[in-house]
Amino acid sequence: MFPHAHFMAAILGAIFGYKYGYINFYDILLTGILAVIIDFDHYLLFFLKYGILNPVTFLNKMAEISVTYSENDRSFIHRKIGMLIIFPIIGTVFLLSTRIGFILFVAYGTHMLLDHLHKFNKTFSGSKIVNIYGMKIAWDIREELLFVIMTGISIYMLL
Ligand SMILES: [Zn+2]
Repeated sequence: MFPHAHFMAAILGAIFGYKYGYINFYDILLTGILAVIIDFDHYLLFFLKYGILNPVTFLNKMAEISVTYSENDRSFIHRKIGMLIIFPIIGTVFLLSTRIGFILFVAYGTHMLLDHLHKFNKTFSGSKIVNIYGMKIAWDIREELLFVIMTGISIYMLL
């Protein structure tokens, strides 16, 4: 999934938390940013595996992965075993601070939901690799539609 889709899914989830008083208004943005940062583990893993820091090489590799759905290039926190460990930790944090627990739950939860939805959906995949100025981008019309819908609902809820 693309960063902007992760961002918007977390924003949408966070708006619910804001409406119910779990978090404050600025926490909505914080949740969105956190949901995007989760994907930095791919960059770290890529660097550890290939020793390459070049972000363009990395993004090209990411584009390939998002159309081949290779599990090998997912790090621990993106796998089911990671979720089995991280969700209980977030649950514990929630007991100590509902605000921080809620932010972490929405950022991580929406991120995993979208990533696994994307993987689950592979048999119907419409992801294509397009070349923009020598940089490969995996593009999927359904992800863009989802982004537009989530943005629309988020704006509606904040009005
Ligand atoms: Zn991810």
